[in-house]
Amino acid sequence: MRFHIITIFPEMFDSYLKESILGRAIKDKKISIKFYNPMDFCKPKERVDARPYGGGPGMVLRPEFFLKAFSKIRIKDKKKTKIILFSTSGKKFTTSYAKTAAKKYTDIILISGRYEGIDARVQKILKAEEISIGDYVLTGGELPAMILIDSISRQVKGVLGKYESLEEERVSTSEVYTRPEILKYKGKSYKVPKVLLSGNHKLIENWKNKSKK
Ligand code: SAM
Repeated sequence: MRFHIITIFPEMFDSYLKESILGRAIKDKKISIKFYNPMDFCKPKERVDARPYGGGPGMVLRPEFFLKAFSKIRIKDKKKTKIILFSTSGKKFTTSYAKTAAKKYTDIILISGRYEGIDARVQKILKAEEISIGDYVLTGGELPAMILIDSISRQVKGVLGKYESLEEERVSTSEVYTRPEILKYKGKSYKVPKVLLSGNHKLIENWKNKSKK
C-alpha cells in the first residue's frame, strides 16, 4: 500500500512512522509513505493561506498550492487510487472502511487541512471523499492521516505478525491481563479473572465475547 500525504506539516509524522509496527512495515516495504508539501509551491513571500471570502475568523488554505502538490503524485492506476480529504463534516472513518480500503486500493492520497480548512474547490476538483475521524475538532488533518495510515496498514497482508493477525480475526477485546496473577496495590489485591487461567479455550472465547464493549 502506498500512502501519499499532502500536508504543510510533514515533520509531524516523523516519530510516529519510525516506531514499532509501522516503522517495521515501512522497512519491509509493506507500506510506503510520501509527502507533498503545498508550501514548496509558494513563491518567496507568498502565503499558503488567505482570508476567507464572506468573512469570519481564521485563515483558509489556498487551493492552487494543494493542487500543485497533488499534481506531483504519480498515479499508477486511477481505479485503485483513493483520494481522501480530511474534514470535520466528512463520512465517519471505521475499521470496516479500513478493511475495504486495504482490499480495494494500492494508493491512498490523504489531504490534511489546517486553520479553517482548505478552499472547497480542491475537494470538488479532485472529487475527494471527505472523511472525519470523529465528532470533535482537531487543529489539523495530520493526526487523522496518521490514524488512517495506522488502521489501514493493520489490514495490509504481512504488516501485523502472524499471532496479532490471528487475534484480530478471532475474538478481540480491550480487557486484557498479564503478569502478575495477583496485583497488590495500596493494600488491595486485584486478581486476573479465573476463566483466563483455566486453559479452557471455549470458556475463554465466551468470556472475551462477553467482555467486548
Ligand atoms: N471550522 C473548521 C471546520 O469545522 O471544519 C475547522 C477546521 S480544523 C481546525 C482544521 C482541519 O483539521 C480541517 O480542515 C481538517 O482537515 C482537520 N480536522 C479537524 N478535526 C477533524 C476530524 N475530526 N476529522 C477529520 N479531520 C479533522
